[in-house]
Amino acid sequence: MNPQKRPLASHMAATMPPSGIREFFDLVIGRDDVVSLGVGEPDFATPWKICDAVIDSLRNGATSYTSNHGLIELRRAISTDIATRYGVEYHPETEIVVTMGVSEGMDVAMRAILNPGDEVIVPEPCYVSYKPSVVFAGGVPVTITTYEKDDFKLRPEALRAAITPKTRALVIGYPSNPTGAVMTGKELAQIAAVAREHDLIVLSDEIYAHLTYDGTHTCFSSLPGMRERTLILNGFSKAYAMTGWRIGYACGPAEIVNAMVRIHAYTALCAPIMGQIGATEALLHCEDEMRRMVSAYDQRRRLFVAGLNEIGLRCFEPRGAFYAFPSIEATGLKSRAFAKSLLFEESVAAVPGDAFGPCGEGYLRCTYATSLDNLKLALERMHGFLEKLRGGSIAVDE
Ligand code: PLP
Repeated sequence: MNPQKRPLASHMAATMPPSGIREFFDLVIGRDDVVSLGVGEPDFATPWKICDAVIDSLRNGATSYTSNHGLIELRRAISTDIATRYGVEYHPETEIVVTMGVSEGMDVAMRAILNPGDEVIVPEPCYVSYKPSVVFAGGVPVTITTYEKDDFKLRPEALRAAITPKTRALVIGYPSNPTGAVMTGKELAQIAAVAREHDLIVLSDEIYAHLTYDGTHTCFSSLPGMRERTLILNGFSKAYAMTGWRIGYACGPAEIVNAMVRIHAYTALCAPIMGQIGATEALLHCEDEMRRMVSAYDQRRRLFVAGLNEIGLRCFEPRGAFYAFPSIEATGLKSRAFAKSLLFEESVAAVPGDAFGPCGEGYLRCTYATSLDNLKLALERMHGFLEKLRGGSIAVDE
């Protein structure tokens, strides 16, 4: 066999489809005329207090590695934050690891808990990294469809039906990207009961916890019997507008956190110290700034969701995160064709729902983390687009 002919990339890497979010983002780069409702990123800059604290730390020479677990000051701040908000105590020394965002946290968590062939249940539509993280760790994702008629909530009977002797873990992410769905404490307790019954580990992605507009967020590990089998993943990207700082964390039983640190120590060594100092400042001094951003998202949410329904795109009411997930079914178009045509005809970028799993077909994900003016302009253009579709004045490539 000629070694030159062998592929240079592994089969797993070469066959993993690219994120459907990035695909649309790339189409928009360099186009100023586009109103982007595409990438889920705050339009706010990181609060200045955070930047200032980091600039000061740089002046004082804080440019080193940190402990593999992360700065102890940050881990203490995380521990206090979770205890204060949700009444769950995590030991800063053994039960918390600072990661490079929830992205790295999820990847390392999967590698820390899975043996080859273990199944992980992933309710869809869901954030794009969950399934690839399972696959890269040698596991097998088993998806469950959640439905608009159920407010995109995971039903305990659907979870029960997906469990096999190989099921090791369940991933949940509420408030949800892409639907904005939120589950109440009572509903999550039913899921917790199934997890307990079947001895599942629960990986709970709570990155949008602070962006809960109706009611309060339930931290999964605060549910009875869940602390010992739950890993909470969270981060600073969304609530504190710190996407580029790449900082998140995981809290859970010492056995899982230890296993994660073993992997994280070899692959990342530690999260960047600048981000860790910024995150400490965020937790200790930026509650007001965070609350102001959350209330701006809430105002945008109301305007945008009402506007979508008015122009004829039925939209489930998102109660958390910063996404609207309108149905485009009435147009008779597929999500991809709709999104592409909307971009080319009206310069509005949104993500086709099927980027979040096949059951997202028939929906469009629109981020409302952009100014009210942009949202109004997007609605105007979307209205124009729908009128043209109805009038048959544009032909859409399916
Ligand atoms: N989890 C969810 C649900 C997300 O929406 C995102 C980003 O969009 C992430 C995780 C990744 O976050 P991070 O920036 O902390 O890696």
